[in-house]
Amino acid sequence: MHQYLRAAFWILVYLALVLTPLFVLLIGPRPLAGGFWVDLSLALGFAGTAMMAVMFLLTARFQRATAPFGIDLIYYFHRLASIGAFIFILLHPLLLVVRDPALLGAMHPAVMPWHLWAGTVSFAALAALMITSLWRKQLRIHYDEWRVAHMLLAVAALVLAVAHIAGVAHYSALSWKSGLWLLIALSCGATIVYVRLVKPLQMLRRPWRVVEVIEERGSSWTLVVRPERHAGFRFLPGQFAWLTLWSSPFAMKEHPFSISSSAEAVREVQFTIKELGDFTSRIGRVKPGTRVYLDGPYGTFSIDLSRAPGYVFIAGGVGIAPVMSMLRTLVDRGDRRPLQLFYAYHTWERLTFREELAQLKEQLDLEIVYVLSEPPPDWQGETGYLSEEIFARHLPADRAARECFICGPTPMIRVAERGLARQGVPPTHIHSELFDLV
Ligand SMILES: Cc1cc2nc3c(=O)[nH]c(=O)nc-3n(C[C@H](O)[C@H](O)[C@H](O)COP(=O)(O)OP(=O)(O)OC[C@H]3O[C@@H](n4cnc5c(N)ncnc54)[C@H](O)[C@@H]3O)c2cc1C
Repeated sequence: MHQYLRAAFWILVYLALVLTPLFVLLIGPRPLAGGFWVDLSLALGFAGTAMMAVMFLLTARFQRATAPFGIDLIYYFHRLASIGAFIFILLHPLLLVVRDPALLGAMHPAVMPWHLWAGTVSFAALAALMITSLWRKQLRIHYDEWRVAHMLLAVAALVLAVAHIAGVAHYSALSWKSGLWLLIALSCGATIVYVRLVKPLQMLRRPWRVVEVIEERGSSWTLVVRPERHAGFRFLPGQFAWLTLWSSPFAMKEHPFSISSSAEAVREVQFTIKELGDFTSRIGRVKPGTRVYLDGPYGTFSIDLSRAPGYVFIAGGVGIAPVMSMLRTLVDRGDRRPLQLFYAYHTWERLTFREELAQLKEQLDLEIVYVLSEPPPDWQGETGYLSEEIFARHLPADRAARECFICGPTPMIRVAERGLARQGVPPTHIHSELFDLV
C-alpha cells in the first residue's frame, strides 16, 4: 500500500507541475476575450509547453520519484506524454488558423515577427524529436547519436517555445507571468546541469574497478566490479544500473545492465552481458583493473518488492541475468520457498549458466523447465518456443498465489504475459523487465 501511496503522490506532483502554469495565467487581468477556440488554442499551447518542460524532470532518473514506478514505466509514460504534448502543440496554431485563415498571411517568412519564428522553429524541433524517437530503429539512427540529438532538440524546442510565449505576451503580459515561464525554462536548465555535470561528478568520485571478466556460455560475459575506496551501493535482487566503460561519466555513453549477482554480496556487483552490438561485443576484451562508473541501482523488477509464498521466473536468453540475481540472493538467504524457472534458449550447448543452474536446484526448492528451439537429438524436454501450452503443462497448482517475473526478448515477454494470465495468474502478479527502452 505504501508503494501505491508514493506512486499517487508523484502522479499528483506531475499533474500540479503541468497544470499550475496554466491556472496561474488566469490570475489577474486577462486579455480581451478571443472566444472559445482562441482560448482553447492558447490553453493547449501552454499545457503542451508545460508538459514538455516536465519531461526534463521525468527523465532525470531521480531515484525517489522513479522508484514507485520503475524506470521502464517512466520512459513508457515519457513516450506517451510526449505524443500528447506534441498533439496539443500542433493543435495550438491549427485552431487559430482554422478560426481565422487571414493569420496565415502573418506566417510569410518575409514578414513573420521574431516570436512567430521562435514558435515555428520550436515546433520543427519538436517534430524532429518525435520522428527520430518513434522511428529511430527504422531510420537506422545509432542509439548514442540519437541520444545527443534528442537532448539538443529538446532544449531547442523548449527554449524557443518559452521565447515564443514571452514574445507574444498574450495572457503572460504581466512581467511576473513571463517570469514564471523563464523560471520553468531555468528549472529545466538546472535539471540538465544536475544530470550532465553534478551526477557525473558524483560518479567520478565513486569509481569502480573490474576485478574479473568471466566467459559464459552463449556469447556472454560476466563483468565483476568492486567499489574503489567507497562502500558501493545496496541493491534489490533483479535491479539494474547504468554502466560507463571506456569513457568518462560526462560522455553520455552509459549502457543499462541488470545486476546478476546476489544482493547479499555487498562488496561486489556482477553484470552478465551478451554480445550484441558495438559496445557489448567488446566486453570480452575488458582488462581486469579497468575503471568503470555505475549509476544505480534502478528498477522495480525484484522479488523483494513482491512478497509471495513462491515465485515463477520466465527467462529468455540473457534475460536470465536479473533472474540469476534473485536466485543467488535466495540461496544466500537460505530461502526454501518453492520456485519454478522457465528458461527458453536456442541450444543446450549455449545455455548461459547451465552448470550453475544445476547446482542451484540442489540449494533451492527449484524446478526448471528448459524450452529449446534447437534441441539436441536426444532431448526429452520442451521444444520450440515458450507458449501457453507449456505453462498449462508445468505451472504449479498454487500459480495464482505466486509472483511471476519475466525477462527476455519483447515477443517472448508478450507471449508469457498472455499465457500466464490465461492460466490463472492475476495480472498484478506478473512483472516484466524490458531490455529495450527506446
Ligand atoms: C533495464 C535494462 C537491463 C538490461 N540488462 C541487460 C543485461 O543484463 N545483459 C545484457 O546483455 N543486456 C542488457 N540490457 C540490454 C543492453 O543495455 C543493450 O543490449 C546494450 O546497451 C546494447 O548496446 P550495443 O552498443 O552493444 O548494441 P547496439 O547494437 O548499439 O544497440 C542495440 C540496441 O540496444 C539499445 N541500446 C543501445 N545502446 C544503449 C544505451 N546506451 N542505453 C540504452 N539502450 C541502448 C538500443 O535499443 C539499441 O537499438 C538491458 C537493457 C535494459 C533497458
